[in-house]
Amino acid sequence: MGETVNVAEIFGKSVFNDAVMRERLPKSVYKRLKKTIVEGKELDPSIADSVAQAMKEWAVERGATHYTHWFQPLTGVTAEKHDSFISAPDASGKVMLEFSGKELVKGEPDASSFPSGGLRATFEARGYTAWDCTSPAFLKEDAAGVTLCIPTAFCSYTGEALDKKTPLLRSMQAIDQQALRILRLFGNTTSKKVTPSVGPEQEYFLVDREKYLQRKDLIYTGRTLFGAMPPKGQEMDDHYFGTIRERIGAYMNEVNKELWKLGVSAKTQHNEVAPAQHELAPIYSEANLAVDHNQMVMETLKKVAGRHGLTCLLHEKPFAGVNGSGKHNNWSITTDDGINMLNPGETPHENIQFLLVLACILKAVDVHADLLRQSAADVGNDHRLGANEAPPAIISIFLGEQLEDVIDQLCSTGEATHSKQGGKLMTGVATLPDLDKDATDRNRTSPFAFTGNKFEFRMVGSADSISSPNVVLNTIVAEAFKEAADQLEKAEDFELAVHDMIKDMLAAHKRIIFNGNGYSDEWVEEAAKRGLPNIRSMVDSIPALTTEKAVKLFEGFNVFTRAELESRAEIEYETYAKVINIEAKTMIDMAGKQFIPAVIKYTTQLAQSINAVAAACPTADFSVQTELLTESSDLLSETRVALAALVEIDEKARQMEEGRVQAVFYHDQVVPAMEALRAPIDKLEMIVDKELWPMPSYGDLIFEV
Ligand code: ADP
Ligand code: MG
Repeated sequence: MGETVNVAEIFGKSVFNDAVMRERLPKSVYKRLKKTIVEGKELDPSIADSVAQAMKEWAVERGATHYTHWFQPLTGVTAEKHDSFISAPDASGKVMLEFSGKELVKGEPDASSFPSGGLRATFEARGYTAWDCTSPAFLKEDAAGVTLCIPTAFCSYTGEALDKKTPLLRSMQAIDQQALRILRLFGNTTSKKVTPSVGPEQEYFLVDREKYLQRKDLIYTGRTLFGAMPPKGQEMDDHYFGTIRERIGAYMNEVNKELWKLGVSAKTQHNEVAPAQHELAPIYSEANLAVDHNQMVMETLKKVAGRHGLTCLLHEKPFAGVNGSGKHNNWSITTDDGINMLNPGETPHENIQFLLVLACILKAVDVHADLLRQSAADVGNDHRLGANEAPPAIISIFLGEQLEDVIDQLCSTGEATHSKQGGKLMTGVATLPDLDKDATDRNRTSPFAFTGNKFEFRMVGSADSISSPNVVLNTIVAEAFKEAADQLEKAEDFELAVHDMIKDMLAAHKRIIFNGNGYSDEWVEEAAKRGLPNIRSMVDSIPALTTEKAVKLFEGFNVFTRAELESRAEIEYETYAKVINIEAKTMIDMAGKQFIPAVIKYTTQLAQSINAVAAACPTADFSVQTELLTESSDLLSETRVALAALVEIDEKARQMEEGRVQAVFYHDQVVPAMEALRAPIDKLEMIVDKELWPMPSYGDLIFEV
């Protein structure tokens, strides 16, 4: 039995949060810091020392020995460089624990080994980290002891963003300013700030650590590069929402506790579609906090797994043929006084402000579908998007019956006079209450779905940071708001102007709405007819970052400069090439050192047994053995040929100059060569003795956790 936990007591215990600050900071300092946080103002340097002092005392009381500026470089994982609090020993050999305002506010890690995409020449290695005081400091406890982590942004000497947080904060400013203009137009004079709210649902796999360690592909690449399907897959749907087993339950229990201490409101957990697949969702929070928290969630899922003899796989497609993992990015926009601008109310047709916001979002997503698609691109996600179980690679919006009906009315007659209501869901059982039905059913196949009072962007990869998708969402919607506000603020008759604008926008961008089955082939055809982009791979998505349209958008809101966009594109190409190269090399290694020797052993044994049978009983039928020998020998030579081809093509790719051409070569040449090597080996796995097969099978990995 797990020990009982008092959630309220442990929640936020490791966070230097508002309550702690109020208690520990001098009143005037607290007030000024709070103002900085709430209004997004710059931190007053004169209070930094006082804040640092309080933070250090609090941390040291809880056992902290080190502090670190915790940041999110473009590698997609978090980075930290630990410094201890101790000062140089004094004359008597004593040390003091020190932490100044300067150390809190600014750090200067040697940045030369973080990717910068050409933004920072290696001789100019300087990079700065700056405290993002809107995201609270926290304590990380692990084998390294207790460390005070200060969430920071990471920039170059010349101020270019080298991380995922800086552009996010910039995009939040953009949507704040433009959304406020929309609110003012509708007579709102009280809201002071608008913030995007984000709730990411995180999927992951758990496998037994011992078995994991027997698979080089999992160790080096996070996914299996070989593996035949087990006799049972997920066709029974018996895992989804199934009872959580003890071992997994104990794991989840500990994950939750760790996260609660860090102030992450881990809320729901359940088994997912595939065997060994699970999901964790927190309660939504402000976008930048949600991004930080999601990094902590991923880190915690991995860390705690080790303690339970498990390994957590965050890869988007750890097992071919088995459901992959994603991250649903739930997104809405909320004012500081609690108004959700995506709340349609009971009668959406009368809610003009909502309809304008909705029209703006349709426009934003339609105009910048390529960017949104790009924001969800990562190497692992190429195995999901567009495949038959994940969101299609085509961006479309699901609105549901009720909203689509309102839009149809507006587009056809120019007036919307009614909203379809949900009514009652009859349970048909006298002792059960009839339930109020939502006016809209769910659609699980849409990449971008309206779900009541938020949009759910479902393309994001499970291992990826959610920063980029939210940067794009915030900025493209800010642009649509800006264009609307620019016109409406000048309008003589506001009512008329807004009505016409909504109608025009809906008519112009209706093509992005699709309520049908996103997994079907008909949709691919239909989308092509509508002119919607179908961007099938990461390498194909990257050019979207640097189009004139993108540069104008991002520069217009000071989210990215052209140079920053170009550097990001470059890093994505490099990342793609590097990941595929590692996968190819791992396959070469496994095929040459593990599979081929195992098959040789098998065929040798088989040949020996044929000889033995023939000697003992020349009339016996050994056609089965002979057939197996022929089949496995043929597959073995196919393997040998495919291996040689992969070695050659990968060598060629590696010698190319980094950049788009190389990445495309990896995609077009190396990936197919990898598939050609995998095919005969997966077939051999079905023939060769289990005892001789050099690693755990899919069945061992996903059914025996
Ligand atoms: P679903 O029905 O899609 O599973 P949930 O209620 O479980 O929805 O929520 C999924 C995620 O969406 C959670 O992280 C939740 O906190 C978040 N969420 C709920 N409402 C909002 C909102 N208005 N804005 C952003 N995220 C939200
Ligand atoms: Mg959901």
